[in-house]
Amino acid sequence: MTDIIIIGGGPAGLSTAIYAKRAGLSVMVFDKGAADCQLTKATEVENYLGFPSISGLELQEKFSQHAKAHNVQIVKKAVVSVEKNDWGFKVCTKKEVFESKYLVLAMGRSHKHLGIEGEDRLSGAGVSYCATCDGFFFKNKTVCVIGGGDSALTQAIYLSGLCEKVFLVHRRDTFRASNYLVERAKSINNIEFVLNASPTKIIGDTHVLGIELATQREGNIVLTCDGVFGAIGETPNIKFEIDGLNKNESGHIITDKYCRTNINGLYAVGDIREREVYQVITAVADGALAIEGILADQSINL
Ligand code: NAP
Repeated sequence: MTDIIIIGGGPAGLSTAIYAKRAGLSVMVFDKGAADCQLTKATEVENYLGFPSISGLELQEKFSQHAKAHNVQIVKKAVVSVEKNDWGFKVCTKKEVFESKYLVLAMGRSHKHLGIEGEDRLSGAGVSYCATCDGFFFKNKTVCVIGGGDSALTQAIYLSGLCEKVFLVHRRDTFRASNYLVERAKSINNIEFVLNASPTKIIGDTHVLGIELATQREGNIVLTCDGVFGAIGETPNIKFEIDGLNKNESGHIITDKYCRTNINGLYAVGDIREREVYQVITAVADGALAIEGILADQSINL
């Protein structure tokens, strides 16, 4: 039996694995692949200590190399179910069952959908949620970015370097995004802010032709554009049921300061848990906290 199974190989999962190894614990990380990790989608990370500017993909690659240097075993399989029993956890992939004393959930979270007409139909045909992944397809074109948080502002700034024009559409006139990003976006000539406007429909049959917005001042208006980037927040990636697990309203797992959930031996690290700040550096810090918690639990268990 492995001491710790970690589900998710992003910054939080790998950091937990490295701390586990250094504490002399055996560990397995289940990770379907880099495409699932939010960090790899970040164009540029400027606030991770030691790296003034680095792409998310490159930073994640460095985390993976670090984990490999500590002989962390990474299993490229999806976990389909998890079961708690008296001695620990059963972790099942499609064909195999693995056992561990402790289980750490580190699956991160994914973008929310706008939930408006045309979104699903035109997904991949002009509707995207990742400027880094798809921005290239809109070179010299006009796009709309929806949202007023850091994601929307960073995506708009990134796209302004590729596209002829970027509309930043936000349903209010104040922002959740950091002031620094808002000011930076405002200073860019080809970004136009469209405020107090809520998207109601994406227009187009086979590809995006525009977006309809409900505004207080002008009623419904249409912005002509070639692409729509949804950047309205995230929802935790919990694909299997865990009986009795405490979560908040948005589905984030509630933990204590050592990342312990309400279920004995079950931990949650990184963006999947309820926290004040969702940053790479805070996700990484969870590795140290969770292992500290597990070591403390072990001495209690002895
Ligand atoms: P967020 O901070 O939750 O912002 C979501 C935005 O979308 C809000 O402005 C919200 O409007 C708007 N929104 C939500 N539902 C909507 C809907 N149905 N229609 C239209 N607008 C809608 O999410 P986020 O920007 O993804 O950021 C999440 C976390 O990641 C934050 O803690 C952020 O700091 C962090 N992050 C950091 C960086 C970085 O470079 N440092 C980059 C990306 C993300 P309201 O404001 O009206 O609610």
